[in-house]
Amino acid sequence: MEPNRDNNKNKPQKPEGNKPKGYLTPLMIALVLVLVFSWVMNTVKKSQYTETRWDQFVEAKDSNQLAEVEIQSDRVLYMTKEEAEKEPSQQKACFTGLPSGDRMALADELAAMGVEVKQPIVEDNSMIMMILSYAIMIGAMYLLMTMLTRRMGGDGMMGGFGKSKAKVYMEKQTGVTFKDVAGQDEAKESLQEIIDFLHNPQKYTAIGAKLPKGALLVGSPGTGKTLLAKAVAGEADVPFFSISGSDFVEMFVGMGASRVRDLFQQAAKVAPCIIFIDEIDAVGRSRDTRYGGNSEQEQTLNQLLAEIDGFDSTKGIVCLAATNRPEILDKALLRPGRFDRRIVVDNPNFQGRLDTLKVHTRKIKLSEDVDLKKIAHATAGCVGADLANLVNEAALRAVRMGRKFVNQEDLMASIDTVVAGAEKKNTVLTETEKRLVAYHEVGHALVSTLEKKSMPVSKITIVPHTEGALGYTMYLPEEEKYLSTKDELLSQVRGILGGRAAEQVVFNVQTNGASNDIQKATALARHMVSLYGMSDELGLMATASVHSQYLDGQAHQDCSQETAFKVDMAVQKILNQCYEDAKGILMNNRALLDEISEFLLVKETITGDELMAFVNADKNKLPAPESEQEAAEE
Ligand code: ADP
Ligand code: ZN
Repeated sequence: MEPNRDNNKNKPQKPEGNKPKGYLTPLMIALVLVLVFSWVMNTVKKSQYTETRWDQFVEAKDSNQLAEVEIQSDRVLYMTKEEAEKEPSQQKACFTGLPSGDRMALADELAAMGVEVKQPIVEDNSMIMMILSYAIMIGAMYLLMTMLTRRMGGDGMMGGFGKSKAKVYMEKQTGVTFKDVAGQDEAKESLQEIIDFLHNPQKYTAIGAKLPKGALLVGSPGTGKTLLAKAVAGEADVPFFSISGSDFVEMFVGMGASRVRDLFQQAAKVAPCIIFIDEIDAVGRSRDTRYGGNSEQEQTLNQLLAEIDGFDSTKGIVCLAATNRPEILDKALLRPGRFDRRIVVDNPNFQGRLDTLKVHTRKIKLSEDVDLKKIAHATAGCVGADLANLVNEAALRAVRMGRKFVNQEDLMASIDTVVAGAEKKNTVLTETEKRLVAYHEVGHALVSTLEKKSMPVSKITIVPHTEGALGYTMYLPEEEKYLSTKDELLSQVRGILGGRAAEQVVFNVQTNGASNDIQKATALARHMVSLYGMSDELGLMATASVHSQYLDGQAHQDCSQETAFKVDMAVQKILNQCYEDAKGILMNNRALLDEISEFLLVKETITGDELMAFVNADKNKLPAPESEQEAAEE
C-alpha cells in the first residue's frame, strides 16, 4: 500500500533536458587546448637548433667562421657565416653544450674577434614549456571539476565554480490558502499567529515580544506539510522560498553551506517572506554519530544555525521546515529561537478525509450518485496525497470510459488503484491457484466476520493487482477507533491468520502467499507483548521503544538477551493459539467456507453485504454451535 505520492507534488522541477550538451562544451574546449598545445610543440621543435660537438664550435671559432653567437647558461647557440649568407628560411643554426661555464671569458673572446654576441633574456624555452604544461594541467583539472559538479547535479556553470546557484524556488504568490487545506485545524490555528505576525510585525515588537523565527511541521509523507507552508505564504500574501534539505547536501564540502547563505541572502532582499525547508532531516540530522552524519552535512547545519540566529526577525522572515523524523534532528535546531515550535500534521481521520475529498472534487464534475462519505469510510489510513491521487484517477477513468462526469463506480475503482495498485490484466492464475487464493481470502473474511469484535469486511476480491497481491480482503471500520482492547487485537491476529488456516484446513497445504499475513500477525503480536503489556509472561514491562513515530512506527528492542528470548516465546504462544483458534472457527463452519469460496470463484469480487447474506442465512439454518455443544454436554 504505497501509492505514488509524487504525482501530485506540484513543485517546480529543474529542467533536465540539456544535460548531454553540458558534457560537450568542456570536452570541445579540452580538445582545442590539446590541438593548440601540439601546434606550439611543433613550432618550437622546428625552430630548434642542430646539436654539434664542442670541438666543432671551437674549430668554427678558431677558423673565424662564426656569424652570431648566443651564450646561455649551459649552452651556446651559434650560426656560421656560411649559413648566415643563405635565405633566412634555409638557415641552420647549431648549439653545443658550454663545458667550462665561464660565459664572460667566452663572450669577451668572441667580441674581440668581432662576432656578434647576444645575451638572451629568456634563457631557455623549456621554461615556456613548463609554464605551458602547468597551464594546461590546471585547465584540464578545472574542466574535470566542472564536469563533476554538473554530474553531481550542481549548477556550477563554467567560470562560476565554487559559487553555487542554489536550487531555490521562489514563488511570488503561491495562490494557495487555508481553504485549500482540508482538516488540520490545529495546525492551522498554530500557524495563524505566524500569518498575523507577517502581516503586522510592529504589533508584536511594540509590546516587546520576541518574534517567532521558525516552526517545524511534523507528520507522515503526503499529509500536506508543503501545502500548509504554501498556504501560510498565501494567507500572508508574501513570497515563498522553498528548498529541499537534500539539495543542500552536495558532493563538495562547503557547497551546502554556501547554498544556505545564498538562500537567506535572497530571502532578506524580499522580506517579509517564508522560507520553507522540506525534509530538513537531510541536513538537520543529529551531529552525534548514532545516525551517521558527515562533515559536509555538519558544516551545512552549522551554517543553517548561524543564519537562523543571524537574521533580523523584525524584517518578517519566517522559516518553516518539514520532517517526518523529528527524533533524529539535532537538538541545536530545536532550541528556543530556532525551530522551537512543533506543529503536528496528523494523518486525516474520517472527517478530514471527507473534507480532503471535497476540496479535491471541487473542480471535478461529479454525477449525482457520488457519495463521498462512503469513499472516506473506505480509505482509512490514506493521507491527503493519496486522496488527491484517488480523485484524479477517478477522473481519468471517467474520461477513459467516455463519460462527462465522474460517478461513484469510478471513485470506488480508484480506491483499488490507490490502495492496492492498478488491476493487473495479465496475471493468469491456474485453476488450482485461483481456488487457493479464494479459500485464503474467504478464510480471512470469515474468521473476522464470525468474531463479533472484529471489523466487518467491505470487499473480497481474487483479481490480482500490480503490487503483487493475488487477492485481498478489505475491512471497513465502522467508526474511527483509537483504542483497542486485548480481545480485539487477538481477534485481529486470528483474522490475519485466517488465510493460512483456510489453506491448511481445506487443502492441507501451506503456500508462500501468506508471507505478508504472517509478518503482519507477528508484528501485531510482538507489539502486544513488548509495547502494550498484554502478555502473561512479561506483564507490564515494555521491552521495546518506538523511534520513528511519524515514519513507520517501527519499534526497536530495548531489553536483555534473556528477556528478548522470553518475548519471542510469548509472541509465538499468541500466534500459535490464534492460529489454532482460526482453524477451529473454519472447521466448525466448513460448509459456509465452501459455499462462499465457490461463489467468490465465480464472481471474483464480492461485497461485504453479499458475505453477510451468506453468514446470516447460515445462522438461520442451524442452531448456534455453542448451544448445540451445551445441549450435548447436558
Ligand atoms: P507533504 O509535504 O506532507 O509530504 P504535500 O503537502 O506535498 O505533503 O501534499 C501533497 C499533495 O497532497 C498536496 O499537493 C495536496 O494536493 C494533497 N494534500 C495533502 N494533504 C492535504 C489536505 N489536508 N488537504 C488537501 N489536500 C491535501
Ligand atoms: Zn492473506
